[in-house]
Amino acid sequence: MALIVQKYGGSSVATTEKLQHVARRVAATRRAGADMVVVVSAPGDMTDDLIARAREITDRPPARELDMLMAVGEQVSIALLSMALQALGEPAISLTGPQVRILTDSVHTKARILEIDRRRIDEELARGRIVVVAGFQGTTPDHEITTLGRGGSDLSAVALASALGAVSCEIYTDVPGVFTADPRIVPEAHKLDRLSYDEMLEMASSGAVVLQTRSVEYAKTYGVRLHVRSTWSEEPGTVVEEVTDVERVRLVTGVTHDTDVARITITNVPDIPGIAHRIFSALAERHINVDMIVQTASRGGRADISFTVTKADAPLAGETMREVGREIGAGAIEAGEGVAKVSIVGAGMASNPGVAAKMFGALAGAGVNIQMISTSEIKVSCVVPLEDIQKAVRAVHRAFNLDALG
Ligand code: ADP
Ligand code: ASP
Ligand code: MG
Repeated sequence: MALIVQKYGGSSVATTEKLQHVARRVAATRRAGADMVVVVSAPGDMTDDLIARAREITDRPPARELDMLMAVGEQVSIALLSMALQALGEPAISLTGPQVRILTDSVHTKARILEIDRRRIDEELARGRIVVVAGFQGTTPDHEITTLGRGGSDLSAVALASALGAVSCEIYTDVPGVFTADPRIVPEAHKLDRLSYDEMLEMASSGAVVLQTRSVEYAKTYGVRLHVRSTWSEEPGTVVEEVTDVERVRLVTGVTHDTDVARITITNVPDIPGIAHRIFSALAERHINVDMIVQTASRGGRADISFTVTKADAPLAGETMREVGREIGAGAIEAGEGVAKVSIVGAGMASNPGVAAKMFGALAGAGVNIQMISTSEIKVSCVVPLEDIQKAVRAVHRAFNLDALG
């Protein structure tokens, strides 16, 4: 029988009624004759709530214990969904990441999947059961519980679809697909019917949380075609797959925003060879991902270096910079959270001069001050004040005529 992997996000299983709706939807697909592996996230905001509890105790919760805590959320969902399926008369079993043996490295809170053992799932499928797997979690080979980074249930689904050779990997969420901008912020945003992995990667990595960036990377590497759909409707959704260059016509695919941004500035850095290497290798050693980097022009042999990281990484990044700063004789470290990032993404912009200028013009027209800029062939990003992010996204979306798509 053909195997289908479906993943339901946190908002889809936030209440008993919603969970029962999901169970009916899963049962209907099952009754149509498919083998099914269903991945679920923690209900509603449970993961955020658990992290908040940890932060009531300490600013920097130990990563191993944080994983132990966060993994609880998904377990609530798998048990309840499995019960709801059984209540509908469908044989089902819940399994945690460690029970499946989703093996990961030991980088707690952002572990990478090394291997998935398919034996247990195969056994349960052979018994005619729907297998309900906890998203977001795995285990190291020596039995430590790990998590796969925020939004990581998407990755669990993609990795399972690849390991099991599923015919379809369906990501069910609270919006009917991938849009030209976050539909919660831009009501005029349009749904995209089809996107390339590369376009989706850029959208996700610049803030479109509808798919976790690493899940898209994984899907691209292993050729897993993704289908993003709404839990609440039968609309066809968005397909993410390989798209050849010749097919590509879009100049700008979408506008994204990211509020999970903190800016760190290390001032008065000696402007000599090797300094950037010292700074950024210290961050890499601590598994801190750096996004944008800007260095000011040197004044009297000194410059300021600013970079952005996620808010979760900001305390450790600040501490690391204080250590490195002392070693290299730099000035003060400034950390700022009141910022956000707006980006335009599109494979077509590589050969079109003027795209960045148009974006800056749109932001200026909306009275939004740009604090940092970074450009690549397929993306332009600007750091702006957090309070201006909504009007920034709307202005840029309008400037590129994305409101008028149809
Ligand atoms: P889930 O809990 O199902 O994983 P997420 O909250 O992680 O859901 O992702 C879905 C959300 O992604 C939507 O509610 C929407 O606000 C947001 N989003 C951001 N950018 C986009 C976009 N370009 N297209 C669609 N949704 C987007
Ligand atoms: N529950 C996890 C999170 O909130 C994983 C997920 O939702 O995909 O990040
Ligand atoms: Mg998500």
